[in-house]
Amino acid sequence: MPTPLLIHEIDATRQWVRERQRAGETVGVVPTMGALHAGHLSLAEAATKGCDRVIATVFVNPTQFAPSEDFERYPRDLEADAKKLGDVGVDAVFAPSVEAMYPPGATTSIDVGSVARPFEGAIRPTHFAGVATVVAKLLLIAPADRAYFGQKDYQQTVVVRRMVADLNLPIEVVVCPTVREADGIAMSSRNAYLSADERQRALCLSQGLREAEQLHAAGERDASTLREAARKVITDTDGVELQYVAVLRDGTMDEVETVDAPAVIAVAARVGQTRLIDNVRLA
Ligand code: AMP
Repeated sequence: MPTPLLIHEIDATRQWVRERQRAGETVGVVPTMGALHAGHLSLAEAATKGCDRVIATVFVNPTQFAPSEDFERYPRDLEADAKKLGDVGVDAVFAPSVEAMYPPGATTSIDVGSVARPFEGAIRPTHFAGVATVVAKLLLIAPADRAYFGQKDYQQTVVVRRMVADLNLPIEVVVCPTVREADGIAMSSRNAYLSADERQRALCLSQGLREAEQLHAAGERDASTLREAARKVITDTDGVELQYVAVLRDGTMDEVETVDAPAVIAVAARVGQTRLIDNVRLA
């Protein structure tokens, strides 16, 4: 497969998207922070199936990391990422510098409101303002027809959908299923931080969710029973600190007591120094 066109400039990116659209083609955009794995590539593949042209963005966005978090050591390998994206048929890659995205004097930030406050937002209070702002910027720089996001970051999908609706951004948001390793762990760039021992312990997140999923499939509808099942698997694992387990009405951040409609069970935990999140749909 040819390597994709690599674009660093904002104007050239917008022009590339507009030109494709003027030629009558639909364009998909896949925002990422790079260090690409099969989860990211599944979004790119969905985009190549759903759109005539695809542009991926690779940008480790500093404003979504708190000062104590891993911005500096976040894995970066643009050359390898571009090759992987080319192999699945992505046409162009937008990889801007931090200075281009946030020139001196930039202060605008998007507060998406209540859906950004609980769970991830409570633990990472500045995270979703950073996410919403960079996603809005990326969707304006690459004004595609469809934007692709992963179910893995469930609250992010709720925040992005809310923002796109509230700001009337003319783009369709597509959410793709979580891609997992053979043993069930959700693929994440942050899995690279785990030691072999931590990697083994980290399995408890997906196993806890699986437990809840199986209870739900067997007819259990009480959210506290489902939460408890997931909680037990995780808290029974040494070296893992559970941060939350929540059962939410699908598409929202509203907790439910009875699962009488499609829902999502979401968990976050620390495994050593590494924070991991995961979720499954109960439908
Ligand atoms: P990130 O590079 O972590 O910002 O992720 C970029 C996009 O890939 C986001 O929409 C994520 O939700 C999505 N993503 C990350 N991991 C996975 C996965 N295991 N399966 C599906 N999508 C994923």
